[in-house]
Amino acid sequence: MSEELNDRKNGFLELVKRIRYHNDAIAVLHWDLGTGAPRKGVPQRAEVIGMLSAEAFKLSTSDEMGNYLSYFNEPDNSSRLDPIMKAAVRECRKEYDKYKKIPEEMYKGYVILTSEAESVWEDAKKNNDFELFKPYLEKIVDYNVQFIELWGYKENKYNTLLDLYEPGMTVEKLDAIFTELRSRIVPLAAKIKEAAYQPEDQFLKQYFDRLKQEEFNLYILGRMGYDFDAGRLDESEHPFTTGINPGDVRITTHYYPNNFISSVMSSLHEGGHALYEQNICADLNGTLLCEGASMGLHESQSRFWENIIGRSRSFWQKYYSELQKVFPEQLKDVSQDDFYKAINKVKPSLIRIEADEVTYNLHIMIRYEIEKALINGEIKVADLPEAWKEKMKEYLGIVPPDDSKGVLQDVHWAGGSFGYFPSYTLGNIYSAQLYNTARKEIKDFDSLVLNGELFKIKEWLAEKIHKHGKLLKPSEILMQVTGEEINPEYMIDYLENKYKEIYKL
Ligand code: ZN
Repeated sequence: MSEELNDRKNGFLELVKRIRYHNDAIAVLHWDLGTGAPRKGVPQRAEVIGMLSAEAFKLSTSDEMGNYLSYFNEPDNSSRLDPIMKAAVRECRKEYDKYKKIPEEMYKGYVILTSEAESVWEDAKKNNDFELFKPYLEKIVDYNVQFIELWGYKENKYNTLLDLYEPGMTVEKLDAIFTELRSRIVPLAAKIKEAAYQPEDQFLKQYFDRLKQEEFNLYILGRMGYDFDAGRLDESEHPFTTGINPGDVRITTHYYPNNFISSVMSSLHEGGHALYEQNICADLNGTLLCEGASMGLHESQSRFWENIIGRSRSFWQKYYSELQKVFPEQLKDVSQDDFYKAINKVKPSLIRIEADEVTYNLHIMIRYEIEKALINGEIKVADLPEAWKEKMKEYLGIVPPDDSKGVLQDVHWAGGSFGYFPSYTLGNIYSAQLYNTARKEIKDFDSLVLNGELFKIKEWLAEKIHKHGKLLKPSEILMQVTGEEINPEYMIDYLENKYKEIYKL
């Protein structure tokens, strides 16, 4: 390697590290805000985060970065880079282009608009007042359409937004996926609703001591291979994962005294996200490759642990007796079978975050169809409340009584996150597809769960997915592991088989 190339490479990596370290600091500050920072310190904290973010932004879009990127873009130089350097340059170029193509004033205007919109949205949701939020949402959609014009797009404007969260995903692929889901999941949900047998889940609403809940959560996280020397569990209003670096990946859960299963499922979910970040290969640390390949793939890991493992019969065959030991009074008359059915109860709900495995993707389908139409100018913001109600009726058979429980329920649009929602369904689909492969490749998958040897499953996921970080695209990882492109059949089959048995259909 020439001396110049080597110098440039070192200089570039040093610059990327500076960006990365700013982000590390920001992540810790955010984590602290979410886990009990004193109220009086919040305003200044927000300023500190804003200032550090601006610094990181300046570094990512600096002339220094621009010079490195054009140097590495020269065919002579790029051909001499190793795969990690090539990918590290690719990710920085993405960031650089994304911001450089937007005029500075326009970007500032958007940042101010979305931060205002989030607090307006909170009021609008609280007071069931869509009209209050409407002008903000109109402007946010407008900005996004302008960004797409500046960034450019292929085939469909919405593709550019999808690509931000799921590189390579397109409307064409998603339309096919959702068509398949609509034709099989809508009827399945309807049949379950009409079924004569409905699981009894009242016992889950008894009082469960907070400390005992925590004890069980810690136990389960340890069993699944979450490394407590590289993380910690705290409580927050909404559960989240903060990946600072592979040696520091923190998770939170929320303890409800009368709904203990919520904290267990959240810990499994966030624990799944955390295993991903804890097991990224050390070579990628300090670059922008040290994160998940996409939002969808990240979500596949959380859903794998929460649903495929955590809501399975074999998991509770192993751990239900442990749970009974922690809560002997509450669970003494509840059989393992009744418990399994209760935590898998399907009930169409108005609220996405309360949805079960079967109806969850229908909530996402509604958001996907609305976002795609908005960005392509086929529907106006003013029409959203009605469109929402119609789709709820068609897919879930229920209609929200007001906009707070309808179109105003999620924060995503107020923050400008268009194109994000499909990640949740992609995560579900990936998780079932990976599960199918895991069962073929890991000998006695079921008995590993039955024997509590969950760490062996974690090792498989780490080797096949986690270690690559963002080095490969999500579609490349999926192809490498499962030998196929994304295929929704595995998830639909999984849901049909599981729920036909539970509901005796
Ligand atoms: Zn998640």
